[in-house]
Formats: sequence, structure tokens, C-alpha cells
Amino acid sequence: MKVSFYTLGCKVNQYETQSMREQFRDAGYELADSGEQADVCVINTCSVTNVADRKSRQYIRRMKHLNPDALIVVTGCYAQTDPEAVSSIDGVRIVAGTNEKGNILKYVSAFLNEKAEFESESREDGEAGRTEAHIKKYEELDSYEDMGTITAMESRSRAFVKIQEGCDRFCSYCIIPYARGKVRSRSLNSVTEEVRSLVLSGYHETVLTGINTALYGREHTGNENGEGLLTLLDAVTSVEGDYRIRLSSLEPNVINEETAGRLIRYDRLCRHMHLSIQSGSNSVLKRMNRKYTVAQYKRIASALRTEDPDYGLTTDIIVGFPGETEQEFQETLKTVRELQFSGIHVFKYSPRKNTAAALMPDQIDGRVKNIRAKILEEEAGKQAQAFYLRNAGKTRRVLFERVTADGKYLEGYTDNYIQIYVPMAGADPGLLHHFSDVRLLEPYLNGMTGVLC
Ligand code: SF4
Repeated sequence: MKVSFYTLGCKVNQYETQSMREQFRDAGYELADSGEQADVCVINTCSVTNVADRKSRQYIRRMKHLNPDALIVVTGCYAQTDPEAVSSIDGVRIVAGTNEKGNILKYVSAFLNEKAEFESESREDGEAGRTEAHIKKYEELDSYEDMGTITAMESRSRAFVKIQEGCDRFCSYCIIPYARGKVRSRSLNSVTEEVRSLVLSGYHETVLTGINTALYGREHTGNENGEGLLTLLDAVTSVEGDYRIRLSSLEPNVINEETAGRLIRYDRLCRHMHLSIQSGSNSVLKRMNRKYTVAQYKRIASALRTEDPDYGLTTDIIVGFPGETEQEFQETLKTVRELQFSGIHVFKYSPRKNTAAALMPDQIDGRVKNIRAKILEEEAGKQAQAFYLRNAGKTRRVLFERVTADGKYLEGYTDNYIQIYVPMAGADPGLLHHFSDVRLLEPYLNGMTGVLC
């Protein structure tokens, strides 16, 4: 039997797909190559925006179209938040919520073993042959389902390790707490052993990822300020080998400047943080239920930059949040100019069903959102260029991840998250998937060119 996987959304989903992939492989399934027909198709969906919902539906239909006889299995956040919509798509046979990903192999095996009986029962019911939706509400998502460790990722340089599940911050625009449930952390030993096994397999970078990564261990420490994450880093960074650790995005409604000041002292930890500010206006942050102020965010940034002025700080910003006035947008722009990010992802607010913000008055017109997004994107471009120019002439350690499609450059990332292009001419192809010291030269495409030292 051949199985294929398709993943939408975040790093946690990518990690969980890899875990499912390894479970199916170990059970004797053959993994289909991209575009190849399969007997079982697993689609790991995302629901972070309305666009993500739509894309998830499109991919389910596309997989059904490309694999008309396959068993279609849908899991992930969209399957969790709207199982009825997912199960009503023609051809979907198994719908599994986010806590059920570790059981999908079991469901598929049971389904295939009992297929004949199942289909005859389904015909009698007049049902389309659908299993029950494994629906769990937020309150019920209260245990960590350890999906098992992974041994490899598709990239041969960088691996992702999931350390926690769930979020209880309930930002007013966000559906994720309903999709992923309460905060549940993976055991410290399990994470450390997985990192050790990835290091032994030759991975030089591991990204610790989660739904709200900084909340790791909160249910055990009772500490809201990232204490559990620091304890985990003590353990993980003591694994021997030539590797570095990166953290996936962190929330300023969890960490504070003291945590930031401690994080920067880990030598193995990359000098880069993705810290989502979402708005630079205190009144908008309040309506977003983000529970921090612009001043608090600035203190975190300053703690990081005092230690390393070239620290890479990237962020997310939502424009057009309900009621966002021109003055509030100008406040955001001013904050962004003061903070000088190395990268900004700009999102136009889009209401998510069943969230508080979707019911707020004064939803912003699409044209206004477009204008504000464009202004911020231009500002983001200028700030990235300024960051690159500040780094020109400096030497940083780069992990080479791939060769560019035209074969001209070795491509990789510095620890402070600048994408680097080193000409292949004269470079040793054996450097691929390894560290090298590189002197950064000048801005190029979405990063910088460099030369080997
Ligand atoms: Fe969503 Fe807020 Fe939790 Fe992030 S912190 S996952 S935006 S509720």
C-alpha cells in the first residue's frame, strides 16, 4: 500500500506529518513520491485564517481528484475546528482532530481491514461511508499525545522538534486555542532524546517548535514567563555535538525582558527570535487581548540587542484589525520604525468564525487594509535592507541547506537568520549541510551574498 501526505500551515504541522510518515513507513507502507498516485492520502490541514480553511478544502478536493480510489484522511486544525465542513467534502472517509494524529495509522488499518463490511453498512445507512468525526472541544484537549520521535526531516540540515501543544491565551482574533486545546508539554527527556538522535543522524540545526512554544512546561512550573522553556534549553543544549538550536515563534504575552536576557546567554541558541508584536498600538493590542504593551515589547527587544546589536528580530503584524483607526495605524508605523525589525510578515485581518474579534463592530474595509498592508510591507523591505547593510563585512556562521535551482549558489542561513548566497564557483560542494564561517558582502534577493572565510 502506498501512502501520500500533504501538509498545510505551520512548523508543528510539518513535524506532525513527518511523525505520521515515519509511523506508516515503519508499519510497512510505501511512501508515495510527490505527484505519485497513492492508496491512502493524508491531508494535514490548517485553519489559522479563512484563506487557510479554503486552501485546506481545495487540497482535499485536489487529492481526491488525483487519487480517485484512495482512502482520503483529513486531520489538523481545520478538521478539528470544523469537522462537519470537512466530512461533507465528497470522498473524505476519515476525519481526525489534532489530538488524534497519533492514531491515524490505527484508524486507517481498521478502516482497510473492515472495508467490505464498512461499505456494506454504509450503503444500508445511506451514508457516504464516513467514519465518525473525532471531535474534541477545547476542554477535552487536555493530554499530550506524544506522537513518538522522528528520525529525519525532508531537509537534511534542519529538523523540527515539537515540544508542546495548545495555547490558552485566547487572543481575540485567533481560532488556534479551539483547534489545539489546553497547554500540554512533552517530557523533557523525550525532547532531549529526540534532539540527541537528530544530532547523531547529522542534523546541525534543530528548531524547537510548538503552538505557543514559550509556554513549555507551564503546567508543571506554574511559571508564566518561560521558566519551563529555559529548563528545557539547559537539558537540550547539553547534548554533545556540532549543532545549534533555534526557537520557533515566541509570544510577548509570555516571555519578558528577563527571560530574553537569559535566552541570549545560551551559546548554542541562534541569535534570532520571531516575536509577534501584531500591532504597535496599545489600544489595538488591548482589543486583540494580547496582554502586553508596546513598552514591554520594546524592553524585550532592548534586552536582546544590548547583548548582540546584530540580533535578528522578526515579527508578525496584523493590519485592519476591527476598529483600527488611522491614528492607531500611524502608531503602529511609528513603533515599527522605532523597533527596526530584520523581517516583518504583514497580515490583513480576516475574521475567523467563533472568535471575539469577528463580532466586533467597525470591521475595516478591504481597500483600507490593502493600503495599510502596502505601506507596512514597504517599510519592512527598507528595514530588512538596513539590517543587511549593517551586517555587511561581518563574519557569521552559516549552515548551508541547499544549492539554488540555477546551480549557481550554495544557500543557507546565518544564526541571526539572514539568507546567504555563496557562489558555487570555487566552493566545495561537500559544504552542503555543514557549517562554514562566511563574510557577508551585500544585499542580494531576500538576503545577502557572502564569501567563505
Ligand atoms: Fe493564538 Fe494568541 Fe495563542 Fe498565539 S498566543 S496561538 S495568537 S491565542
